[in-house]
Amino acid sequence: MKIPAKLSNYIGGKFVAPHTKQYFDNPNPSTGKLLCKIPDSDKRDVAKAVAAAEKAFPAWSKLSPPKRFKILNDIAEGILTNLDALAKAESMDSGKPLWLSKSVDIPRAHQNFQFFATAQMQFSTGAHHMREEAINYTLRQPIGVVGCISPWNLPLYLFTWKIAPALAVGNCVVAKPSEITPCTAYLLGQICEKAGLPPGVLNIIQGNGQNAGQAIVEHPKVKAISFTGGTATGARIASLAAPKFKKLSLELGGKNPNIIFADCDFNKMVKTSVGSSFGNNGQICLCGSRIYIEEKIYDKFKRAFLKQVKTLKVGDPLNVKSNLGALSSAGHLEKILNHIEIAKEEGAKVLTGGKQIKLGGKFSKGSYMEPTVLEGLDINCRTNQEEIFGPVVTLTPFKTEAAALKMANGTNYGLSATIWTSDLNRAHRMAEKLEAGIVWVNCWLKRDLRTPFGGVKNSGVGREGGWEAMRFFTEAKNVCVAYGE
Ligand code: NAD
Repeated sequence: MKIPAKLSNYIGGKFVAPHTKQYFDNPNPSTGKLLCKIPDSDKRDVAKAVAAAEKAFPAWSKLSPPKRFKILNDIAEGILTNLDALAKAESMDSGKPLWLSKSVDIPRAHQNFQFFATAQMQFSTGAHHMREEAINYTLRQPIGVVGCISPWNLPLYLFTWKIAPALAVGNCVVAKPSEITPCTAYLLGQICEKAGLPPGVLNIIQGNGQNAGQAIVEHPKVKAISFTGGTATGARIASLAAPKFKKLSLELGGKNPNIIFADCDFNKMVKTSVGSSFGNNGQICLCGSRIYIEEKIYDKFKRAFLKQVKTLKVGDPLNVKSNLGALSSAGHLEKILNHIEIAKEEGAKVLTGGKQIKLGGKFSKGSYMEPTVLEGLDINCRTNQEEIFGPVVTLTPFKTEAAALKMANGTNYGLSATIWTSDLNRAHRMAEKLEAGIVWVNCWLKRDLRTPFGGVKNSGVGREGGWEAMRFFTEAKNVCVAYGE
């Protein structure tokens, strides 16, 4: 399994060129060199994909759960069989370390298919009995053709997180990966073909957001959109989909607080905080970019945290010794460096990092950056309010629990929050009051695929995960049968 020089779309079970016959470049961010060409698809390709999906829908939606399980589980197994090739493709495409793709991204893509293959065997609906009058029961029916659009930070991981539940409950899908990281989505098409997924059940369209992505959102036959990406893109998609009354699930940006109390398990907290700050170069929507520390341990935390951050090695993503690889693109590096300049203008003290890293040899045109820790900023400044989505965190002290809560809730975002404390009462009290869709207490990024996943405020609308995803991808219909007379 290899990345070809030119990727294709996967429509109706065939690998096809885009209608325009035009392609654009996909550079490897660790070297700056061309990795492959991406089809510049537009609404004509999307129309073909929707037609193929509509054709496949009657048979796929009626397939028995055990038969659907077999195919979806074979896709899961196909991902596992090709783990090494997929992990390498993911690292070359996104700049993330190979060890990370191997241990997190690709195993999770496998789990996504495995989880929803089995979940659809257990999915059930409710009944409401009106005594001696009638019985209501609920049908959960697949929607038809649905659209799934995903970002570049966890490419195959998030692509499959949407596609697997959509397919599991009987929909046919038109999906688009990010144009920054298109490779593993292309390879997934090959795995689906081998697993015997009927043609048209999953269609993968490559291309940019304005042409290919928007065409999926605007197509009248696409009845639901599951989107993960930036908040501004989410707002644009909502404005297009709402007047057409499409179902929408929006998983958007974050600016997550990491709240540290003096009574926490200090060593565990510092180690985890390095990961929650700089994991995947800070390019995880759940990273804790605003670190709030109880004043009495502020200096102790700063010393211990900086000591560990300074040991992080940034380098070739394929080298096992690299803790951090390249950023996802040259454009993203530029955006983050610009944020550092803004932070300095706002009065930030740079405790470590802040600069681009220039590696030699074949990596000289790669997009590398130092992990950066800032302090001395006002909580309302741009650096503490805007999502930077890179290896940049700010440190801010607090005196009381109330002050920490106010600061934590003081942005327009509300994706996740982390609390470090050994006071159980405080943990529950804070968890209830934090404006976030996900709260971690004394841990970070622990994920159970059955739990609801999503954000509040500008971090999104709706929830993914477990039954939530399966409910999103189905329409509920109540049937009321009177029998009283
Ligand atoms: P993005 O919004 O630029 O792009 C995401 C996807 O949307 C891409 O596939 C893109 O091609 C497509 N797109 C762009 N414009 C479109 C349009 N007008 N119509 C339809 N599709 C369009 O986001 P990104 O830069 O790829 O990803 C980073 C963002 O994603 C960050 O804000 C991050 O926080 C967020 N994110 C959120 C979660 C979550 O679960 N909440 C998870 C991962 C990433």
